[in-house]
Amino acid sequence: MRNSLIMAALSAAFLASPVAIAQQVAAPSVPAIAGVPEAALAAAASIDGEKMRAHVRFLSLDLLEGRGPGTRGAELAAEYIATQFALAGLEPAGENGTYFQSVPLVAVHTIEDRTKFSIVPASGAPVELAYGSDIVSNDQTGQATADLDAPIVFVGYGIHAPEYNWNDYAGPDGHDIDLKGKIALIIVNEPPSSDEKFFKGKALTYYGRWTYKYEEAARRGAVGVLLIHRGDLASYGWEVVRNSQATEKSYLQGDTSATLRAAAWIQHDVAQKLFAEAGLGDLDPAIEAAGKRGAFHASELPVRLSAHIESRVRRYSSANVIARVPGATSSGQAVLYTAHYDHLGIDPDAKGDNIYNGAADNGTGCGILLEMARAFAQSPARPPHAVYFAAVTAEEQGLLGSEYLGLHPPIPAGEIALDLNYDMLLPIGIPLSVDLGGAERLDFWPTVQRVAKAFDLALEPDSNPMAGFYYRSDHFSLARVGIPAFSVDQGDLFEGQTPEWGRAQAEDYTERHYHQPSDEYQHGWDFRGNAKLARFGFVLGWLASEQAKPVEWLPGDEFEAPRLASRVQ
Ligand SMILES: [Zn+2]
Repeated sequence: MRNSLIMAALSAAFLASPVAIAQQVAAPSVPAIAGVPEAALAAAASIDGEKMRAHVRFLSLDLLEGRGPGTRGAELAAEYIATQFALAGLEPAGENGTYFQSVPLVAVHTIEDRTKFSIVPASGAPVELAYGSDIVSNDQTGQATADLDAPIVFVGYGIHAPEYNWNDYAGPDGHDIDLKGKIALIIVNEPPSSDEKFFKGKALTYYGRWTYKYEEAARRGAVGVLLIHRGDLASYGWEVVRNSQATEKSYLQGDTSATLRAAAWIQHDVAQKLFAEAGLGDLDPAIEAAGKRGAFHASELPVRLSAHIESRVRRYSSANVIARVPGATSSGQAVLYTAHYDHLGIDPDAKGDNIYNGAADNGTGCGILLEMARAFAQSPARPPHAVYFAAVTAEEQGLLGSEYLGLHPPIPAGEIALDLNYDMLLPIGIPLSVDLGGAERLDFWPTVQRVAKAFDLALEPDSNPMAGFYYRSDHFSLARVGIPAFSVDQGDLFEGQTPEWGRAQAEDYTERHYHQPSDEYQHGWDFRGNAKLARFGFVLGWLASEQAKPVEWLPGDEFEAPRLASRVQ
């Protein structure tokens, strides 16, 4: 049935003039774009959704066991990706002339029934905390046991942001309070604001992410952090916090920014108890005051945290897979494409289907990456500068593979013009809108707008800026070492559908399949949309590499400083 339709279409095409045939073949896939030679446009047009289908199908087979980092399944996936790079003619850009970059990891799981936390007031009996319902914690150092007895220091939101003239670590005398060997008590999120010039108004900056708070306190020598959970501020409930600690948590081995013996969350009520023991009264007014300029200074509380922590520790490694297409000239302005290939592995305790296949998350990103790599490698026109492709590991463990890649890039970070990342693009049709959160922070934005228009892609605004999505995907790991970076994601609008349909598809996937064993390959998936967004990214990368000056962050952006630092070497 389908074949005869195609035959009918073909014979209709043959009746038309040869020019019309060429237009019919070329017009739908890649528009003409100034700055991209015709041979490169043809290479982009060769990007084939059906090849992506083959990659996604293979990577999400049960045979690959959910691609959990450090397992056989993830190794098979990495070998598959490296083999595809080789077959397509890409050069290895990993370690020792291979496609692989080994990422050393350590997994830590707090042993609940052997771990004890209590709050010890200056006088009176200690208050014991129930692990799981009052507090959850991880020892980031990867040691089996830790014993702590340290004073607690309340540092408000735990933010030091010179660009907003804001320092929560300043004590009553104006000097930074000493945190060495102490425990920092910190509020989640950031000072509330609707002023664009103050913590970007309603949008969440990195200062509001809990990862920043751990890092900043660790930089100042703290041995522990107690994050105060309040659902309305965190935008997720205590159950989410608790569940995320139920399985092991991985860190990069030797990560100098992860040195806390107790990286902990406490329930709001526990923090209230702690405040009462310290003679400080009610917590909520204190939280409110901490968000107002001039109304707060850091102070050591007359309360200590005492803890005995035992952890199950597993050291392992998992590979990033990195390949290169050489450019017409060698230095500067290289382009990097990234997609994570790891997923959640197998849950040995689950009944029934216990393999997390990760077909959409992130088989789709891998399919896009591999097809783009093939198209670049086989392009008759050489890209102006080198193009790198990195399939990164341990994203689901906290962007760890990409963090390692950012710290050990195949060429210096200052020489990389742009990173485009692809993560979880449901193959459900041809998108007419894209979500490129973060692209507006670059001087490349006018080019992005121009190319999106040429591809008939409307730009969707971030639907929930308060959730801080920019800081939750692999491009962020590259941004924090200064590389201009964003993810290419589809919006809600698809050809022949209403935006409501698109939203419903996304919601249905999130509810029924996201991070569940049912995220499996579907025969009915339509990969034409993934192909379209790969072609779009191909053209963006080409233009970033081709333009006279490197892409930069807009002046004043939070990543401008690491960008400048990446050039001083
Ligand atoms: Zn995921």
